[in-house]
Amino acid sequence: MKKAIYLDYAATTPVDPRVAEKMVACLTLDGNFGNAASRSHLYGWQAEEAVETARQQVADLIGADLREIVWTSGATESNNLAIKGVVEALKAAGNTGQHIITSAIEHKAVLDCCEYLHSQGYKITYLQPNAQGVISPEQVAEALSDETILVSLMHVNNELGTVTDIAAIGVLTRSAGISFHVDAAQSAGKLAIDCKAMNVDLLSLSAHKMYGPKGMGALFVNRQPKIDIAAQIHGGGHERGMRSGTLATHQIVAMGEAAVIAKAEMQDEITRISSLRDKLWLGIKDLPGISRNGSTDAVSPGHLNVCLSGVEGETLLMSLRELAISSGSACNSASMKPSYVLTAMGLSDAEADSSVRMTVGRFTDETDINNAVEHIRNVYGRLQQAG
Ligand SMILES: *Cc1c(COP(=O)(O)O)cnc(C)c1O
Repeated sequence: MKKAIYLDYAATTPVDPRVAEKMVACLTLDGNFGNAASRSHLYGWQAEEAVETARQQVADLIGADLREIVWTSGATESNNLAIKGVVEALKAAGNTGQHIITSAIEHKAVLDCCEYLHSQGYKITYLQPNAQGVISPEQVAEALSDETILVSLMHVNNELGTVTDIAAIGVLTRSAGISFHVDAAQSAGKLAIDCKAMNVDLLSLSAHKMYGPKGMGALFVNRQPKIDIAAQIHGGGHERGMRSGTLATHQIVAMGEAAVIAKAEMQDEITRISSLRDKLWLGIKDLPGISRNGSTDAVSPGHLNVCLSGVEGETLLMSLRELAISSGSACNSASMKPSYVLTAMGLSDAEADSSVRMTVGRFTDETDINNAVEHIRNVYGRLQQAG
């Protein structure tokens, strides 16, 4: 069977071959396989050196100091550590604030943490996106109160690709002395991030969204001003006590290399990927009943979310079988519910159900886009006649 054209880079990315090469060199006896916590021999020292080099590489990608990077298993864990960690640490320090601001279109890893904290007595404000799927700094300003201890918002939305004005929100939270967490799983390595200039205190990264391996992530924890977080995984005291567990040298080295490549090629990739995405949209936008979801200017380079009205999501995905794409978000596709992100921005259940997300990435080429356009035009024409 012919493999489908991969247009689901927001769900996960393949590991870049240059990254895979570095990763493989950290596994076997002749490679850098040691335990970075081993202090008594060269194997340990070499592993530690590789881990610290990678830490600097990831820090460089986001304008951080290497001491501000904590290794985790992915953005889900980073979000948990950031949100629960900062709230618990504030409580332990005697802060009695009980209010958290987030949005209705966050990833489940953020929403479920907030729901958990709600069950512990915290009050959560879920900001609603406008019709373009954007959360504005003004909404944050309005929601802030004396009780607010944390604002948690994503940089780029995984379904729509819409971009939040993190820098403007950072000005608000910093001047109010409130912790600011950003889920940057979809933006890291794709858009410029400067944690210091943006006044971010905590920032979550995922390696497998930036051409690194799955099961690897990082959390930026600000040291200036210093943010305290309570550990969520207890053990050997690794990562300055914030996250225990033997460091996965191969995963970490891979994430470091992914960060180096992303930083070096970011400008070229933004141009190339957004032009492929635009070409895809141009090729199908004249189809009757088709419309684009979400902002078209505050949007990440690779995202295209479209509504093909009148055709059910399930039918759509089954019919567009030459394309590897997703309906709503992959993390949500276990349930048959229409995307909560699309309904939050005002789409009806039917419109949300008729929407698909296509995401372009590093290994997409012109031929892929031409073939995808042709396939969508054929299939959609047939489905509309049938309907
Ligand atoms: C993928 C993703 C996550 C989860 O990251 P994992 O590394 O898979 O745990 C969190 N937030 C956003 C916005 C994502 O796109």
